[in-house]
Amino acid sequence: MGGGIIGLSTAWRLSQRGMRVAVADARIMAGEASMAAAGMLAPGGEAHGDSPWARHTVEARATYPDFVSELKGASGLEIDFRECGALDVASNDEAWAELAARRAIQERLGIRVREVGEAEGRELIPLLRPGSFRALYYPDDAIVDPCQVNAALEVALKRVGVTLLIHEPVSAIEPDGDGYAIRVDDASGCRVLLRAGSVVLAAGAWSNEITLPGRVASHLPAPRRTMPVRGHLVEREGTPGALLPIAREDHLYVFQRNRGTLLTGSNEERVGFDRTPNPAVVEQILDRTDRLLPGLFAPRAENSSWVGFRPGIEGEGPELRRLPEERIWLAYGHYRNGILLAPRTAAYLAGEIAE
Ligand SMILES: Cc1cc2nc3c(=O)[nH]c(=O)nc-3n(C[C@H](O)[C@H](O)[C@H](O)COP(=O)(O)OP(=O)(O)OC[C@H]3O[C@@H](n4cnc5c(N)ncnc54)[C@H](O)[C@@H]3O)c2cc1C
Repeated sequence: MGGGIIGLSTAWRLSQRGMRVAVADARIMAGEASMAAAGMLAPGGEAHGDSPWARHTVEARATYPDFVSELKGASGLEIDFRECGALDVASNDEAWAELAARRAIQERLGIRVREVGEAEGRELIPLLRPGSFRALYYPDDAIVDPCQVNAALEVALKRVGVTLLIHEPVSAIEPDGDGYAIRVDDASGCRVLLRAGSVVLAAGAWSNEITLPGRVASHLPAPRRTMPVRGHLVEREGTPGALLPIAREDHLYVFQRNRGTLLTGSNEERVGFDRTPNPAVVEQILDRTDRLLPGLFAPRAENSSWVGFRPGIEGEGPELRRLPEERIWLAYGHYRNGILLAPRTAAYLAGEIAE
């Protein structure tokens, strides 16, 4: 249930294990967070300590080159994936203390990071604003174009005969013999869309809107709640090669895709599923980018901006587990790291479900 990057990549891995798979989405495939995302692959960014989930981000990053090259082969499509590194800049003591605290956790997870002086920082990113700073360099951080990953997954799935059902808003997963009936409720009424032996609930920030079988309530722990955490991204054309590593300061990040497009973001808002971008937030992101990297944007370049709904989650790490005594797997709450985690989540689920 749900054709974002989590549902699509899981379907791909399941089909490779010989399973008959269908993906149902309420709208179009990968039209929500997975399309809105930046595609930064930066493990350990959200880690508060050495937890299994923090380790998954590191493992996911390590598997990305193979994931991308296998997916390119399976789809015949190009995927912009670059191991470009990232420079985290701190302009005051408070920001530096935050970076240092995160660095200590990341090093325990095996993430490579080192302090770089101003001269090396400016060599890596010549456009950095004048004035003093301290910085950390993450040589293994990378970027991928999530839209290209999703497009490649869709083609790969079609090639192996996975059924892709769009505009099917699943309302309930109901017990049905040895398996489940997947119920859809839309303008044409309530009906059974399909029957399945196993179900993966991967509807991102909407996952709790799908009703689970009533008997699930007697098992603890209860499925954790997911909630939309809205973020803005802004895109502008740039000259290819203007910015090689990712530049970051506080929660701002800026990077460039191979074709030259510059991407900058983001923010976090808890405003439900409001799809209207806030021009003031867009202005703020552009101003901060301009202050960090003056002259990066061509003066007359047009902006395009959008919002997306990260599947936020209570507690640390995604809700990724089988419900006791059911063949239903929860796979939501990947929050700020779903693009990074997709290969790891998909491999884990496929291993469990096909066992
Ligand atoms: C601005 C922004 C920047 C981001 N940057 C990064 C980044 O740099 N790196 C990173 O790793 N992650 C990033 N993320 C996070 C990442 O996008 C998400 O973690 C990831 O896309 C989640 O994937 P998903 O498949 O779980 O959810 P989604 O992509 O939201 O997919 C869920 C799907 O379920 C469908 N659905 C909803 N309700 C139903 C229903 N009732 N029945 C059937 N289908 C349903 C939806 O239509 C949707 O297609 C970013 C997110 C945002 C918003």
